[in-house]
Amino acid sequence: MSTLTYAIGLILVVITLALIVATPFALAHSRTLHDHGPACWWCHPRLLPRKRR
Ligand SMILES: [Zn+2]
Repeated sequence: MSTLTYAIGLILVVITLALIVATPFALAHSRTLHDHGPACWWCHPRLLPRKRR
């Protein structure tokens, strides 16, 4: 098994684990319809935190 194959497999495993961990939070959040404020990352996704406009 080459290093490249190992790296790709490791990345896939990390992505899969991240999805598994994030899914319960996304489902729990989707059930609440009230406004979470501008600080909520789910309602207002942003790549750069603490960037006010
Ligand atoms: Zn929210």
